[in-house]
Amino acid sequence: MSSDSNLLHHEIKFISINCKVKKYGIELVEEVNLSKDNVDRIIHCGDVNCRSGGFYIYGMINDMFKGNIKQESQKQICNGHEVINGHRQRCMRQFIVSVNIDY
Ligand SMILES: [Zn+2]
Repeated sequence: MSSDSNLLHHEIKFISINCKVKKYGIELVEEVNLSKDNVDRIIHCGDVNCRSGGFYIYGMINDMFKGNIKQESQKQICNGHEVINGHRQRCMRQFIVSVNIDY
């Protein structure tokens, strides 16, 4: 088992994650809510055309854990790309992620 999963299973009592998604500044209806039971390393980008995208949530959780931070929000443009009619372009989704942790 990796240290990442040890962090989640032994050091953190409770975690609640909310991820809202915007594209071109407009909030999409999709929203992701995660808890300790179903959090994965990455919140996958919901765009079916997006490749290699998503938000690396474990990095944020790890930073919060190191700083003993209980609440934090971050915004990040998806680092994936989509290929449309043979043209490769950046995925323009933005993730707005809020995390609450109890240690
Ligand atoms: Zn994406």
